Amino acid sequence: MKLNIKNSIIGSAIAFLVATSCCWLPALIIAIGGGSTLIGISNGLEQFSGIFIVLGIGFLGLGIYQYTNRNKMSANKEAILKSTITCPECGHKKEETMPTNACQYFYECENCKKILKPTGNDCCVYCSYGTVACPPIQLNQNCC
Ligand SMILES: [Zn+2]
Repeated sequence: MKLNIKNSIIGSAIAFLVATSCCWLPALIIAIGGGSTLIGISNGLEQFSGIFIVLGIGFLGLGIYQYTNRNKMSANKEAILKSTITCPECGHKKEETMPTNACQYFYECENCKKILKPTGNDCCVYCSYGTVACPPIQLNQNCC
């Protein structure tokens, strides 16, 4: 019994980490990349230092690339921010302004009070029920 509870806690922790990985992964990559580069420099004459430096710079570059992409996304004013959500339960339509820095995962229909969640692989309620997909999707970027 105790083991099952422990397993389910670990399971949900892993699920949480995976679900939020797009938020902390770039930071982790930069942390690892920066750390490896420092180790590589401090062990300057070690046999594998070159590999660590290359890996470190590589990860650092990847992290910077991801951050740059996000900055482009928030700086881009061309994405359409108004989307009309149609409730699948009662057909009620409401125009909403989408946030550019976050995805809306839950949406309460003001008519029937049903809490809407994205369907399939959609990242947010606007992609599933709105007339316009959310800003990151419009700009061909991964959603967070
Ligand atoms: Zn409704």
